[in-house]
Amino acid sequence: MTLVGLLGEGIAESLTPPMHRREAEQLGLDYEYRVIDIAETGETLDELPRIMRRIREEGYDAINVTHPFKQLIIEHLGGLSPSAERLGAVNLVVFDGDDSIGHNTDWSGFRTAVDHGIGGLQRRSLVQVGAGGAGAATAYALLTLGVEQLCIADIQESRARALVERFRTAFPDSRLETAAMGGLDAVLAATDGVVHATPTGMELSPGLPFDLTALAPSAWVAEVVYLPLETELLREARRRGHRALDGGMMAVGQAADSLHVITGLEPDRDRMRRHFLEL
Ligand code: NAD
Repeated sequence: MTLVGLLGEGIAESLTPPMHRREAEQLGLDYEYRVIDIAETGETLDELPRIMRRIREEGYDAINVTHPFKQLIIEHLGGLSPSAERLGAVNLVVFDGDDSIGHNTDWSGFRTAVDHGIGGLQRRSLVQVGAGGAGAATAYALLTLGVEQLCIADIQESRARALVERFRTAFPDSRLETAAMGGLDAVLAATDGVVHATPTGMELSPGLPFDLTALAPSAWVAEVVYLPLETELLREARRRGHRALDGGMMAVGQAADSLHVITGLEPDRDRMRRHFLEL
């Protein structure tokens, strides 16, 4: 039996566990996926060493990791995959005997989503709004796709600057810049596409993260928010005729890539997407 879990806080509604369970069943695997939610157990962030010990004792083969542990967990691991190291965030830990390796499949999930969903559209010069955890993964994905120019904006400008600094050395062929939210219209007017990586559009922070009127008709829009799947940004982008990519593509991509790293098997991504849309 393969025992996997999702470690996070307030994750009762997460769609990652049902995605894993269904696809593992379809693949004929003996695979148990549990939820380790500190909002339920009453544990605190300081207790992470104890939580990790318990996870090891209970014999987990792997855990997905989500907010607020993606960075905190790193110091408790034996090593990191090269991409998790460059990104500075982990969303999957694989245990092998006493060893534990942190991986990141958020970025690869987003890269696959862009490759499939945006296809042949222009992506030389892009804008990204949001420089938190999801933003680090999407920016990394865009840079690995060879984007020539990436401009990052965040209401916390220091976060946008930190992300640019983090990736500048690793991607010397790409031009990385920050933009102030106040000056976004000018950069949006000249971009091939825009990636939205803030929580705006979720139930607790409804609304539009930026004004789309400046975008050229050919510019595409990619969303990371997937609860709800149809955000105000996506509705408005489609209404204006832009090609738009929903956040579910990244969510399915990270789950499929995690399942692949854990089991070595190739999940059926289209089947996973169909299942995701039913959830
Ligand atoms: P985070 O808190 O780490 O980062 C959010 C960033 O957005 C912060 O830097 C914040 O300053 C910035 N921000 C907030 N509102 C803004 C605004 N109006 N304009 C500009 N910047 C703004 O959060 P996160 O973990 O990056 O999550 C962001 C969203 O991505 C959430 O909705 C989360 O559910 C989603 N997410 C989706 C996937 C997926 O697979 N689709 C994966 C991870 C996260």
